[in-house]
Amino acid sequence: MGRVFNFSAGPAQLPESVLERAQKELLSYRGKGMSVMEMSHRSSDFTAIIESAETLLRELMAIPDNYKVLFIQGGASLQFSMVPMNLLKENGHAYYVNTGSWSKKAIAEAKKVGDTRILASSDDKNFTYIPELNVNQFNDQTNYVHITTNNTIEGTRYIEIPSTGNVPLIADASSNILSEQWDVSKFGLIYAGAQKNLGISGLTIVIIREDLLNQATTNIPTMLNYETYAKNNSLYNTPPTFAIYMTMLLLEWLKERGGVPAIEEENITKSALLYNAIDESKLFYSKVNKVDRSLMNIPFMTDSDELNKRFVKEAEREGLHQLKGHRSVGGMRASIYNSMPVEGVQALVDFIKDFERKYQ
Ligand SMILES: *Cc1c(COP(=O)(O)O)cnc(C)c1O
Repeated sequence: MGRVFNFSAGPAQLPESVLERAQKELLSYRGKGMSVMEMSHRSSDFTAIIESAETLLRELMAIPDNYKVLFIQGGASLQFSMVPMNLLKENGHAYYVNTGSWSKKAIAEAKKVGDTRILASSDDKNFTYIPELNVNQFNDQTNYVHITTNNTIEGTRYIEIPSTGNVPLIADASSNILSEQWDVSKFGLIYAGAQKNLGISGLTIVIIREDLLNQATTNIPTMLNYETYAKNNSLYNTPPTFAIYMTMLLLEWLKERGGVPAIEEENITKSALLYNAIDESKLFYSKVNKVDRSLMNIPFMTDSDELNKRFVKEAEREGLHQLKGHRSVGGMRASIYNSMPVEGVQALVDFIKDFERKYQ
């Protein structure tokens, strides 16, 4: 069977060449007579894989030397708890920016750990924009500020990473890590589940500035302490070995394409194709504030529930899959991560135009 264009928000489509490489190496990894899945995580072959994944990520994101790269399980959702458990102090507080469903979940978990305050919110307009941040209210007891760099469900993103002065900026970058160039030194910690732009599920990448390690003031469980991962090169226990291997393959693919600057340009082109089609349409529209539009997740809709449903169904027949919008937003959503080729977006744009001619 041929492959479809998969617009899923995650787990997301992977580049075909990456899948083919994994297939080729599945039974015997580079002549070793065994699969990566069957290898000891302490073998020299696996050590080379995890080191290569880290080196590639450091190179692609230009991660400064005073940051550690950690490979953790539990998804981005576990980071909602690990961040406050490690960084929120007894008499301190954390500020969160509430920009949608994922921010809300992060806030809910932080509240269980300590003093959690809302710095800004776009709740008043259904999270269709990124709010301004007032950083003047920080004081010595402000342990960190948490943002969601890209709101996967609502389709907004920070077009510029905010400056938070001496207060560490913590970012959930699950849905747009590696999609555009960032200055990593603006962040104290970046975390991202791998299944959107970094590989497959089961792995979460944490990039943490060294001074934020060992900040936990309470006796937190070993497996929830960043220090454990930093001290043991993420090999304190068995890490998700196959997922780390897939991340390595994906990062090799990204490097071959010209790295983040090249993919950023492609992402701008791809998203502009789709946004232009939506803006030109009399049937489809987007509710998101134009300047805050995501490059990765693009919600759009018609005013008719029936037409929205028909769109999703007919698109699938054309090989355009997973276009149903999130239930909290409705309509459609196209997730066009790094791995979505421009041909996929063009096929969607052509379908949008055909659909409008047919049903408007
Ligand atoms: C997908 C997503 C998550 C949840 O990731 P899991 O790995 O499933 O826990 C969290 N935050 C954002 C922004 C996401 O897009």
